[in-house]
Amino acid sequence: MQETIRAEWRQVCDLMRRDIGESDVRFWLEPLEIAPVENQDGHLKVVLLAPNTFVRDSVDQKHGDQLGRIWRNINPEVVRVAFGVRDAGASPDELGKNKKKAQPAGKKGSALADQNDGLESFGIPVDPRYTFANFVVGKPNEFAVSAARRVAESPEIKFNPLFLYSGVGLGKTHLMHAIADSVRQQTPERRVLYISAEKFMYHYVHALRSNSAPDFRAKMRSVDVLLVDDIQFICGKEATQEEFFNTFNDLVSRNRQIVLSADRSPSDLDQLQERVKSRLNWGLVADIHKTTYELRLGILAAKADARSVFVPQDVMEFLAHRIDSNVRELEGALNRIIHYADLIGQPIALSTCEEVLRDLLRSSQRILTIEDIQRKVAEHYSIRIADLSSDRRARAVARPRQVAMFLCKALTSLSLPEIGRKFGGRDHTTVLHAVRKVEELMELDQVMASDVAMLRRTLSD
Ligand code: ADP
Ligand code: MG
Repeated sequence: MQETIRAEWRQVCDLMRRDIGESDVRFWLEPLEIAPVENQDGHLKVVLLAPNTFVRDSVDQKHGDQLGRIWRNINPEVVRVAFGVRDAGASPDELGKNKKKAQPAGKKGSALADQNDGLESFGIPVDPRYTFANFVVGKPNEFAVSAARRVAESPEIKFNPLFLYSGVGLGKTHLMHAIADSVRQQTPERRVLYISAEKFMYHYVHALRSNSAPDFRAKMRSVDVLLVDDIQFICGKEATQEEFFNTFNDLVSRNRQIVLSADRSPSDLDQLQERVKSRLNWGLVADIHKTTYELRLGILAAKADARSVFVPQDVMEFLAHRIDSNVRELEGALNRIIHYADLIGQPIALSTCEEVLRDLLRSSQRILTIEDIQRKVAEHYSIRIADLSSDRRARAVARPRQVAMFLCKALTSLSLPEIGRKFGGRDHTTVLHAVRKVEELMELDQVMASDVAMLRRTLSD
């Protein structure tokens, strides 16, 4: 009897495959087990046991009726197909947290509550300070902000994904929280998940270890708006990339909104599979540029205002002028000044700023990184940052690469092997060769000499 039912279940799955596709079958149906069949006077009741309540409720909602219909076509004695959760004892490989007794599916409402619980523990809570209202708009970020607002304010999908990128501390995370917050306010029924790529990987790896990958997938795919921050983190992490790619495709194909952020453009994300890169370019790519002096002033004014602190104009100008690295540092400096004035019980004054911020001002003549140099050089020669690490030997790329290596040697304290590693894993002798070549060319070639001098100057500014 049980054998027959099992064979029928395989048939049902095959038929479903045509309808909902291989991946959904694999992901929703195959993890189900069949409970001992109840026979009531020739009427059979089949109960399918899911690994957890989330899968149970999702399958019930999505496919319950259809499964029943198909099964009755195959075997009219089956009068009911119901869903439960596997008993802890029944499946030794089942993991701790889902060890509940088999229980009948709850009402539809409870499925949603379940999913939300799961989701919240999964993502990162949205920071209420990071709203659109608190985000100061200026030339460098206006395009990104308007794209973010479009996504947040219209439930209709205009572009998918929205891809935000910028250097650190320029507002990507702030904007993603703002989108999440705004969607939740306007359409509370849409499920929103904000998660860092790092956390995505963490949960995925954890799910693999605990045999709960289907559960992970189900959760990731149950959202209406998925925001993944700092996706450069998954570059080079093959399995996570694959998983991310599948989640991405699944959500996009079902018209769910995706918002991504990274510290560089999709094409500059090295070690990301080409097909993933090209998907990232499907939607809208918006970058946030470095702040301008005006924007920095605007941000300072807004932050002082939000805290109801009076900050004299000359102090704000001093800060906006001297701390130009990123907004996070700017905020840090402002906080420091406010605290200091508070501590000594004096109004904020320009005369104390230099002293109070000494270390920050020094560090904002910050330590140059290889990435800074690569960015500048790529910009100067109008090539892609990725070209600097690529295997391309064309002169148009090879020369700038040598210049970049030369500058890394000249302006940082990194060793030749360390530099080589950051240029697509090149050998230290290649770096040495580049350094010598550039020195030689600077003697012979005026243009080369002035290019390098100019790059050197702007980098050490
Ligand atoms: P990223 O994610 O790009 O590294 P964040 O979003 O974490 O940067 O921003 C760093 C800090 O700067 C946050 O506290 C954020 O609120 C603030 N910030 C950045 N840009 C703006 C802006 N235009 N207006 C107000 N605050 C900003
Ligand atoms: Mg961030």
